[in-house]
Amino acid sequence: MKNIAVLGATGSIGRNTLEIVKSFPDKFKVIAISGKTNINLLEKQINQFHPKFVVVMNEKTRDQLRNSISDKNVKIECECESLVKISTLDEVDILVSAITGITGLVPTLEAIKKGKHIAIAAKELLVAAGEIMLKEVKRKGVKLLPVDSEHNAVFQCLDRRDKKDIKRIILTASGGPFYKEKNLHNISPEQALVHPVWKMGRKISIDSATLMNKGLEVLEAHWLFGIDISKIEVIIHPECIIHSMVEFIDGSVFALLGIPDMKMPIQYALTYPERMPTQLEPLDLSKISQFNFSAPNFDKFPCLKLAYEAGTIGGTMPAVLSSANDAAVNLFLKKKTKFSDIPKLIEKVMNKHNVIQNPSLDHILASDAWARKTCLL
Ligand code: MG
Repeated sequence: MKNIAVLGATGSIGRNTLEIVKSFPDKFKVIAISGKTNINLLEKQINQFHPKFVVVMNEKTRDQLRNSISDKNVKIECECESLVKISTLDEVDILVSAITGITGLVPTLEAIKKGKHIAIAAKELLVAAGEIMLKEVKRKGVKLLPVDSEHNAVFQCLDRRDKKDIKRIILTASGGPFYKEKNLHNISPEQALVHPVWKMGRKISIDSATLMNKGLEVLEAHWLFGIDISKIEVIIHPECIIHSMVEFIDGSVFALLGIPDMKMPIQYALTYPERMPTQLEPLDLSKISQFNFSAPNFDKFPCLKLAYEAGTIGGTMPAVLSSANDAAVNLFLKKKTKFSDIPKLIEKVMNKHNVIQNPSLDHILASDAWARKTCLL
């Protein structure tokens, strides 16, 4: 039996994680969950999984939830430190880190320091603080299990093979909803939120449309697998059946195929190193009939180029890229900036940033806050 805490239980990854837990009741137990303000869903999750602790965003949500649930043994809190409290609880074996953005950074780091294994879905944490996180992961000997479908695929292709044999990692990308669109100026949030293949949260859907998601994934792969950014490539594969590939020095290319459903990578991250049967639809290649591939268009999708640049500069720059992107996406969702201005805003912030190499956690958090503020100026 593995005991699980889920940061971001009401989001897309969190909900899928709890679905997996539900299908293996004798394998997993939910000890703690966090959510923002979705009271109805949190109430359902509490009634179904009976966690000991629940952390929410604010006092109003906490009080409403305390009043509405029947199980009065559940502790509900809303302080910032409470996220650290639930991620480091003695009985927790695996922390599922699935809060978008930097919020989950300190709780996830503290969980690593306490020896918890981490199923990592929040790619922003590795982008901003990969070096610090990996240092602690090595020191404590915990597993950092990728939930992101591409990284989960690379993880499975590598399967403990020697890193020195890797020639390159090839991350696949759907291309998002506008890959064939000629003019990206007048894209509305409503159009950008409709992803052709994956059903995801709002922020990651916009990131997929700008290809920033793939850029962040390049940086995520760099830290997860200890591979130089120059050896990580992106290829557009609209069918989203090959979830990523690894080419070895002898020319052999390993690929992981599967239907595009996040339950697959989440389940493997939770059951690793075991494999368990799935209820999901099997892959039927005769129905798909063909695979397409093309090189990404860096001029049309400058966010991908900016991510490579930030990764090559290193230090605090990837944290600034990620935070400026977060702020720019928020502006776009509120219709305060155009889709085509997202990369321009990020580039403006990156150009103003004084990079700190080998940053401390405080440097990273300060750079994140600075970039968010600077994006709005
Ligand atoms: Mg992904």
